[in-house]
Amino acid sequence: MTTAVETFEALRRRLTGALAVPGEPLYAALTAGFNVAIAATPAAVVEARDAQDVVEAVRFAATTGRAVAVQATGHGLASTLDGAILVHTGRLDECVVHPDGWARVGAGVRWQQVLDAAAPHGLAPLCGSAPAVGVVGYTTGGGLGPVARTYGWASDRVRAIEIVTGDGVPRRVTATEEPDLFWGVRGGKGALGIVTALEFDLVPLPEVYAGALYFAGADAHAVVHRWREWSSALPAEATTSLALLQLPPMPGVPEPLAGKFSVAVRFAWTGSQASGEAVLAPMRAAAEPLIDAVQTIPYAGIGMVHADPVDPMPVVEDTDLLTALPAEAVDALLAVAGPDARSPQVIVELRQLGGALAAEPAQPSALCHRDAAFVLTIIGVPVPPIADALVPHAAAVRAALGPWATGGALPNHGAAAGPERIARSYDAETLTRLIELTERYDPAHVLRAGQVPVRPAA
Ligand SMILES: Cc1cc2nc3c(=O)[nH]c(=O)nc-3n(C[C@H](O)[C@H](O)[C@H](O)COP(=O)(O)OP(=O)(O)OC[C@H]3O[C@@H](n4cnc5c(N)ncnc54)[C@H](O)[C@@H]3O)c2cc1C
Repeated sequence: MTTAVETFEALRRRLTGALAVPGEPLYAALTAGFNVAIAATPAAVVEARDAQDVVEAVRFAATTGRAVAVQATGHGLASTLDGAILVHTGRLDECVVHPDGWARVGAGVRWQQVLDAAAPHGLAPLCGSAPAVGVVGYTTGGGLGPVARTYGWASDRVRAIEIVTGDGVPRRVTATEEPDLFWGVRGGKGALGIVTALEFDLVPLPEVYAGALYFAGADAHAVVHRWREWSSALPAEATTSLALLQLPPMPGVPEPLAGKFSVAVRFAWTGSQASGEAVLAPMRAAAEPLIDAVQTIPYAGIGMVHADPVDPMPVVEDTDLLTALPAEAVDALLAVAGPDARSPQVIVELRQLGGALAAEPAQPSALCHRDAAFVLTIIGVPVPPIADALVPHAAAVRAALGPWATGGALPNHGAAAGPERIARSYDAETLTRLIELTERYDPAHVLRAGQVPVRPAA
């Protein structure tokens, strides 16, 4: 009988990096990701050291009829990857910031590394709420961050992509070289290939007036209604989101929030502190905050705005996009997820879109749904006794806001795979073009595992 080691021996010999199969210590280390609710069980993991290792893995998958998947951090793990070859990009860790305003990073780099490298130059990358998320997974899915209404989507700042497409060919992609791929990779996530390096613009932003106001559950009605009215008039210098929180008592959770229902209003202002204080004043006055953590901070500390969890944890998520948030929608949300609703979720979050996010990009891309007004994300932690309640309750939250849902979803939010999710991530024209591109660049259909939001119909 052929053992797993023997099956992959031919590939192992061609690699500079390591290959691990189930039972080997490196396999356990490389398949561990952020979301421990899903156990990844690929047939083998390639720890890529260079783009050629990625080429070898993709070609081996094609000749052996296997799927190939990619993982940097596991923040977007959406399926078990059974039987696939997983390319782990953690060792592709190049990170160079050019003082004239752009960066080049390897596919394994996380945002905090770029934040720290850009800070001495007064520059800022358009990272997301959690600096531990990978640059490539985030950016290829659009990338909606704490200053997004001022600066737009991260994917619109991409200059160049180095990628191994599904046909095993390494390519350099820009607006003028391989323009079809330049269109499709920005928004298409891993559907067309495995990115090995990314080059993108930074913005000049050494500091930002940002943070969160935390209010008691008893004030939820007043705070959420005020946030709705207040956010509707904000200029693009302001990016805001609102989270209904039920944080457990655990290290890192401030005492006033631990084990209680609270409401967080996140705010980031790219103008002066004085003008930001004036803009935030009506929100500060909505109720007496339990914690007021909005202040001028170095941009490299932007992770404090959302204070997302850092350590691996089990998570189940769901998401929607909304066209608007009238007062009736706030009432519907509070009825199903407010302080008296006995919601099992840890976070029910609304991020306001609009501003620069709604602008037409200079270079068109596969990222859709730019006209949505809010993104809803529902996050639960599947532990007894509430584990079984999370999915039905998330469906109930979505149903309550159903009258205002667009039917779409952002590729990055609520990590999921499968046809229903593919259909929600793209409009029909974009999906047709992405499918055409996958046929051209992935003829053996190796890129069919992972958080891949597009596959040709079987
Ligand atoms: C705590 C937390 C906070 C988040 N905050 C935000 C946020 O503020 N804004 C936002 O937009 N999203 C956010 N996300 C979603 C996140 O951007 C996506 O889940 C993203 O895919 C994570 O990328 P990763 O590389 O870290 O994860 P991984 O699990 O390693 O990868 C996930 C997927 O990304 C794609 N991918 C990764 N690497 C490559 C590659 N080299 N080539 C091609 N495709 C690749 C693949 O489709 C892969 O399946 C958050 C997620 C979490 C868990």
